[in-house]
Amino acid sequence: MTTLVIGAGLLGLCTAKALLDRGEAVRIVESREAVALETSFANGGMLTPSLPEPWNDPGVHRHLAASLFDPKSAMKLHLHAVPSLFFWGMKFLRNSASPRYFRACEDNFRLASYSLQRMQALMRKSKLDFSHGTGGTLSVFRNAKDLQNKKAVSDRLAALGMRYELLDSDGIVELEPALERVRNELVAGIHFVDDEFGDAQSFCKALADIIRASGAEIDTGVHVSEILHANGRVTGVRAGDGMIAAKRVVLAAGPWSRRLLRPVGISLPVQPAKGYSVTIDVAGLGGTPRIPVLDDTMHAGVTPLDHRLRLVGTAEFTGFNTRIDQVRVDNLFDMLKALFPLVDARIDRSKALPWAGLRPMSADGKPVIGGTAIDGLYLNAGHGQLGWTLAMGSAELLADLMQGTQPAIDPAPFSLNRN
Ligand SMILES: Cc1cc2nc3c(=O)[nH]c(=O)nc-3n(C[C@H](O)[C@H](O)[C@H](O)COP(=O)(O)OP(=O)(O)OC[C@H]3O[C@@H](n4cnc5c(N)ncnc54)[C@H](O)[C@@H]3O)c2cc1C
Repeated sequence: MTTLVIGAGLLGLCTAKALLDRGEAVRIVESREAVALETSFANGGMLTPSLPEPWNDPGVHRHLAASLFDPKSAMKLHLHAVPSLFFWGMKFLRNSASPRYFRACEDNFRLASYSLQRMQALMRKSKLDFSHGTGGTLSVFRNAKDLQNKKAVSDRLAALGMRYELLDSDGIVELEPALERVRNELVAGIHFVDDEFGDAQSFCKALADIIRASGAEIDTGVHVSEILHANGRVTGVRAGDGMIAAKRVVLAAGPWSRRLLRPVGISLPVQPAKGYSVTIDVAGLGGTPRIPVLDDTMHAGVTPLDHRLRLVGTAEFTGFNTRIDQVRVDNLFDMLKALFPLVDARIDRSKALPWAGLRPMSADGKPVIGGTAIDGLYLNAGHGQLGWTLAMGSAELLADLMQGTQPAIDPAPFSLNRN
């Protein structure tokens, strides 16, 4: 029986690979002309079990309300988007209560750690060229309150196996000499030693080659307009002028998944949260970081990807729109200047490549992985700001559920019907 996977971003491709590894037949359909051209295109590149926090931390309502009037706010709510966000927004706020928030951190951390293990296993088996790096990530803090908040979460996760080291300014510069110039502006740093990084789009392309070599088809330029079902069972999808029959369908269409589910009576609490990245060629420039550096206070970061630097951050709730707003791009350059002034002085900003993508944000900050009320219809969607980190683990979890084998981690926190 062939499983039809909708979407060739990180989640669709990893799901296909996990099913192929279990001896299943798979076909992927993708609306764009190639794989990984949407949210998985130019993300921050960080594989960070250390960052499992949903964005609805306790107190998020104050930030969102203030953001309506602040064009530079790191997380910005646009007034025109408020009506479409109403029901999702109520859930988002309900999940910002401390117990729910901390439970989500722990659930995401377990899945992220498993995911990283699966990624390492894949790299041992197959040669994948995706600017991969190890050595952890470094979060830096400009005030004691931000440090205290991050340390509170990190201490909880340390009980689940996360390793971290607290650094003073000497320790920061020893780990990342490129921060020497700004050492006096940083109150502390945390080195999350087990994190990794790499280019998600290159990974997707390499995985697509492996998938095709295994005999599976990836049909690009095929837009699914409807999921078809009869008598409580999925029967296929409508695509273009025709139908593709399938007894099993996996929906991995990122932020667009919700639209395909609504007509079949399934509500998926996922909304697009726009984010930006800027990619800069820094070949031969010097003074660039060796590992990703996150400015916790500015809610943005810098990831080295071989000869490139990727600046990443910001979130806007503004519906399905990927228009580039120069104010947001300038925020990222400001962050670069604040962390690595020499690099900023040496680059030509006009040659940098800005990009905006839509994070598929669930209302409780956790992805939705598993079956639905329609037999044969499965979901792997809603991975928000953490989809690169969670992709391999989510795919393995779903493949185990589809095969009826015992998954390595508890699937309950990620089921569609969780509370
Ligand atoms: C600025 C930014 C920075 C980020 N940084 C990080 C990071 O550092 N670390 C991390 O872990 N995560 C990060 N993320 C999150 C991560 O990139 C996403 O969670 C992940 O890419 C989502 O993958 P996906 O496969 O669900 O969605 P997508 O990559 O969007 O894939 C879905 C695919 O489905 C296709 N599709 C949609 N509708 C249909 C249809 N009807 N028919 C056929 N095909 C369809 C789309 O064309 C698309 O290719 C970041 C995201 C952004 C925006």
